[in-house]
Amino acid sequence: MVTHAYHQVAAWHIDPVEKKPLFHFLPGSQTLSIATRGCNLRCLNCQNADLSQVAPSGFRPEQTMTPAQIVEMAQKIGCSSISYTYTEPTVYYELMLDTARLARKAGLKNIMVSSGYINPQPLKELIPYLDAANIDLKSFVADTYEKLCSARLQPVLKTLQLLLKEKVWLEITNLIIPGWTDDLDAIKKMCAWLADNGFSHTPLHFSRFFPTHQLLGVPPTAVKAVEEAAQTAKDANIHYVYTGNLPIHHREITLCHHCGEPLINRMGNRLITCRLTTNICPDCQQFIPGVFN
Ligand code: SF4
Repeated sequence: MVTHAYHQVAAWHIDPVEKKPLFHFLPGSQTLSIATRGCNLRCLNCQNADLSQVAPSGFRPEQTMTPAQIVEMAQKIGCSSISYTYTEPTVYYELMLDTARLARKAGLKNIMVSSGYINPQPLKELIPYLDAANIDLKSFVADTYEKLCSARLQPVLKTLQLLLKEKVWLEITNLIIPGWTDDLDAIKKMCAWLADNGFSHTPLHFSRFFPTHQLLGVPPTAVKAVEEAAQTAKDANIHYVYTGNLPIHHREITLCHHCGEPLINRMGNRLITCRLTTNICPDCQQFIPGVFN
């Protein structure tokens, strides 16, 4: 087996960590996002299909970056972390692992933004260097997973359980696509499974779909549908529920799950205020899950 993705960084960008989305991990910090070409899934709704649905083969000298150069760039720019994102880091696993090792030594955090479609063994090798992950839970209906993404649900659930067990900071994203993933009964079952399996304190992001790739004929998700999904999650005892891809002026506020006081205020992906410098709520002294210091 030979990797064609190693050293071939096809995209990089500096993002607020909130854009990953990670809302309980170093709020307001900047992260260096990198990606190679390629993906192991075939999602009909892929937003990065021009990068993800092409093989990472073909050496491009202008895109060559070593792990050391990636880490050096993150440090020079003043980022707190490196995010392996945009396409699917599983397909550039070797580059991610080597970069994550060097980043850890340099005092930087490592973030994986992934579909979670990875075998347990390589994930276990990566976990010691992983500080946070956002995993897409694309649907809770097995048939939809296959038709929408050419993938299976169960391996993704196993990834979530392993990350939780190994105490990697985890947030979950669920995209609401009209006619595909907007069924409230399925969302209810997903939230019940999350609550029953120890994810009540794991932030859950419901995201709005816009027509793209092979789903150009599907309308954008109604804001009301995203809000209903969020309410369903709150009713199922998921404490930190967020909505994304809503109008730019939309505010996302983190309220303490115990006393209900506002802790973090955001507009879109931009941090406005954060009252947390530790995991303790300044009002009721309860533990707030996340990485804040
Ligand atoms: S897993 Fe992500 S990058 Fe890959 S096809 Fe699906 S949406 Fe695109």
